Amino acid sequence: MAPTPAAVTRAAIALGSNIGDSASILKDALKALDQHPQVSLVRHSSWYRTVPVGPAQDDFLNGCALLETDLAADALLELLLSTEQDFGRVRLEHWGPRSLDLDLILYGDQVISSDRLQVPHPRLAERSFVLTPLAEIAPEWIEPTSGKTISELASQLGEDGILQRIT
Ligand code: ADP
Ligand code: MG
Repeated sequence: MAPTPAAVTRAAIALGSNIGDSASILKDALKALDQHPQVSLVRHSSWYRTVPVGPAQDDFLNGCALLETDLAADALLELLLSTEQDFGRVRLEHWGPRSLDLDLILYGDQVISSDRLQVPHPRLAERSFVLTPLAEIAPEWIEPTSGKTISELASQLGEDGILQRIT
């Protein structure tokens, strides 16, 4: 009998960088994820220059991407964290500067709360640097804890902190 194919889930990730050549880092990180045999890149947003949250540091470049994967959510998080390491992320201070930050924002309609992983990302509703790019590529996706669409959450929050859209 042929093996049962593993279910494919759509996931949304957020990308950020404020050290180094951020535009190349974000582009190359997506390419690396797409090259994983169990991940395919569906599309990504524009990149946005944004005001940093936390300690004083350079502006960030942020964006979001949609992936399809048969990896479980925790395995996808591992892949995101190891990709951060591959791009030279060093954790110096909480919310401080980084060459690459990859966060798992949504994983299908699943709600996950473990020590290592919370999905939907707990600070999604307060982060214009995630909601603005995500609304560009997935406006109708329903955030399962609020029951609201990404487009509703984005317009509720507004675009404070978004400095420039880079097309
Ligand atoms: P932040 O992205 O909020 O600035 P970090 O990138 O330093 O913080 O993440 C620290 C830890 O957060 C990770 O090691 C990971 O285990 C945990 N974490 C929990 N939920 C998520 C999620 N949805 N996406 C990414 N990391 C998460
Ligand atoms: Mg992170």
